[in-house]
Amino acid sequence: MARVVLSLRDASGKNARRGQAGRFPSGRRQFEESSAVRRILIVGGGVIGTSVAWHVAERGLGEVTLIERDRLGSGTTWHSAGNITWKPVPDSDVPIEYMLELIPRLEREAGQSTGWLRTGRLFIARSPEAMDTFEGYARAAGTRGHGGVLLAPGEVGRHHPLAAEDAIVGAWLNPRSGRLNPADLVAACARAARRRGVRIEEQCTVRGLVRRGARVCGVETDRGAFEADDVVIAAGLWSRGLLAQAGLRAAHGACEHFYAIAAPSPALPRETPSFICAEDLIYGREEVGGFLVGFFDRNAKCLDAAALPEPFTFTLLDEDWDQVAAYYERACEIFPALVDAPIRRLVNGPESFTVDGHPLVGPVEGVDGLFLACAMNSAGVTFSGMVGHSVADWLADEELRFREFDCRPERFGARESDPAWVDAQMPHAPSTFYRVHNESAL
Ligand SMILES: Cc1cc2nc3c(=O)[nH]c(=O)nc-3n(C[C@H](O)[C@H](O)[C@H](O)COP(=O)(O)OP(=O)(O)OC[C@H]3O[C@@H](n4cnc5c(N)ncnc54)[C@H](O)[C@@H]3O)c2cc1C
Repeated sequence: MARVVLSLRDASGKNARRGQAGRFPSGRRQFEESSAVRRILIVGGGVIGTSVAWHVAERGLGEVTLIERDRLGSGTTWHSAGNITWKPVPDSDVPIEYMLELIPRLEREAGQSTGWLRTGRLFIARSPEAMDTFEGYARAAGTRGHGGVLLAPGEVGRHHPLAAEDAIVGAWLNPRSGRLNPADLVAACARAARRRGVRIEEQCTVRGLVRRGARVCGVETDRGAFEADDVVIAAGLWSRGLLAQAGLRAAHGACEHFYAIAAPSPALPRETPSFICAEDLIYGREEVGGFLVGFFDRNAKCLDAAALPEPFTFTLLDEDWDQVAAYYERACEIFPALVDAPIRRLVNGPESFTVDGHPLVGPVEGVDGLFLACAMNSAGVTFSGMVGHSVADWLADEELRFREFDCRPERFGARESDPAWVDAQMPHAPSTFYRVHNESAL
């Protein structure tokens, strides 16, 4: 078998699938010609790879093998804050409704809890303009048949004991949001997938893709070659490097992404609604009685996944209070008890981003049988159901259920796929993500 050396914008395959949302016209036929049992290989055992494995197995599309270089969840997933935020905007509403529907079904099938806790989420306004946005959210939520309540500053304290009414203009309490434990979500997906026959190989590192002609036919690993009819790259921020080895491009970069955990007094009740304040680029929730406060900082610190120490598993990056102190101070204005609260830890984890805030999910142009499921823009837990379903749609050659939410890897032009250009945009990616999602409701 020869190693893959392909160009994403290979002339022969250029735009071959553009305009055929959800269709994969040639792959299925080729598979039927080449193998009696379709072998589907997934690289990466985070929240995305395990969701893909379960969804593909549930659809009965073939023999599924998942390869993870260390332990399941050991990349970015294990330190995720696990928030799932419902918003009445198209790129949030439909995928998240699916996730909310999926959680109890997965828990029943796996016989295991994901730790899902519906707390509701306070969208905090610090300006009249933001409050106008949230009034729009409330109206839109009503038309979708969902509740939610607009709160005056003095009413917010009834829901969040630490909120200062003089620091805010009001809030919208959205009741559908909540959080889960990402490690438990991974374990549940893996368990349900195994029950459906998925083989999971941990401690196995993929070294490169293998192709026959214009078609992927497996991977090389440190434990030998694995043959496959389809390969799904769900290797988180390491996906770009895996494709680069094969001369391909995945238009994502990576940034350092932070949250602090403080221990204010009084301790927060577990059911306290989480909060989001898009104007200040902060969010938060209760964490074992403490207060987790996260930051979508401007001028985010970029990182090169290839330069991370090896093995980078169950590992965090260095603390950097200088990077996030200004955002923490804004959180202190809204929640004054944070000022004197001891800090339990500052979590700094790597995460991958695209320039438009949407993941990369779907076929890699010019290479039959090769699919991407990566670049989750700090919403991989939230998007995991949608991504698993979408990959199964692509593999099954069926219409995409979530096709309004454009995640096709080929959506970027030549300039936007250039790694140097993508890297130059990365410092803006986390804060843009917050702004995009805030403004999209206006
Ligand atoms: C601080 C922080 C807070 C977050 N909070 C939230 C939140 O509240 N809500 C939310 O929805 N999202 C949140 N996220 C984002 C979410 O955690 C990620 O989007 C998600 O975990 C990404 O999952 P993944 O499966 O794509 O990647 P990963 O979890 O990184 O999984 C990829 C896997 O691939 C494996 N791998 C890599 N290379 C190879 C190889 N060559 N061979 C075999 N295996 C390989 C890795 O070991 C890894 O296990 C947060 C992220 C961070 C950093």
